Amino acid sequence: MGRFEMKQSAITYSFVIPFMNEEAVLPMLFERLTALLDDIDGPSEVLLVDDGSKDRGAVLAAEQAQRDPRFNLIRLSRNFGHQIAVTAGLDAVQGQAVIIMDADLQDPPELVHEMIAKWRDGYQIIHAQRRRRDGETWFKRASAKIFYRGLSKLSSVDIPQDVGDFRLVSGEVVRAIQAMPERDRFLRGMFAWVGFRQTFVQFDRPERAAGETKYPLRKMLRLASDGVIGFSDAPLRMALWIGSLVSLGAIAYGIYISLLALFTDGLVQGWASTVVILAFLSGVNLLISGVIGLYVGRIHAEAKQRPLYIVSEKVSAAGIGRISQPNEVAYAQG
Ligand code: UDP
Ligand code: MG
Repeated sequence: MGRFEMKQSAITYSFVIPFMNEEAVLPMLFERLTALLDDIDGPSEVLLVDDGSKDRGAVLAAEQAQRDPRFNLIRLSRNFGHQIAVTAGLDAVQGQAVIIMDADLQDPPELVHEMIAKWRDGYQIIHAQRRRRDGETWFKRASAKIFYRGLSKLSSVDIPQDVGDFRLVSGEVVRAIQAMPERDRFLRGMFAWVGFRQTFVQFDRPERAAGETKYPLRKMLRLASDGVIGFSDAPLRMALWIGSLVSLGAIAYGIYISLLALFTDGLVQGWASTVVILAFLSGVNLLISGVIGLYVGRIHAEAKQRPLYIVSEKVSAAGIGRISQPNEVAYAQG
């Protein structure tokens, strides 16, 4: 692959691994990953992206970067969230093929062999698809299932089912993603959106090797709404439908009331129905304003044009660089 590129990079494989508070798993990760790096058929680099860890994770990563020149650490100035940490890594990669994986060994490094084989076959995006999810709660599995089925109904792009962020992508795909400057990053949707030749490898997702999930319900909901709002305007159209239906109902009821007023007497009763209708209509109003508000909020975030993330420090075998000049603040090439 990379046959059509102007300039071939000296690095074949780049690994992008975001982590936050993962000191418990990082040593195991380095061990498994080193074994893989020794095994694969080209020069490789690992970009560990510290997403504002509060534990010793960044220290462990920096030590690893000084021990093994293939490892590099990029530290973000605070916690920006998993999807943005991945983006920061993608902005720095040099390889012709880029592998994105979690730090907790739920994305088994050994699967990369299969992904590389598919890449050599000419595929440009290889998604790792989960056959089974060990040790995840019933709730997480059910909600993920409902979410992915729902999203694929709502959205105009075909977002593959049971696929997380573990995938191999080619250099041209990375450049396509870098050209997408949106703030609310739902990477699995973005990777589906860019097209290219896509395929899957399947695996049984193991439990995380140590530590606890960094995706509490609140963050999962945020990610889910990024997915829906970023890839569908169905909620806005739904607001239109609800509005139309309620208006039709109101017109029908208006006609009924007018007829009663014209042809009967004793219309003074009806306080209950008035209150119920008023309450219902204000509810619908608020709901629809809320839906519109979700989209407006995102427009607001986009309009501010802030950088997606700020890199505070880079560590590699060559040394430690502190970075704070605005020109080093990546703008996702925007
Ligand atoms: N992560 C991150 N920033 C965050 C949350 C998570 O970089 O704000 C990393 C985390 O360290 C891990 C990966 O994202 O490497 C996936 O998170 P986790 O394993 O907690 O999610 P789960 O597998 O439970 O969905
Ligand atoms: Mg995990």
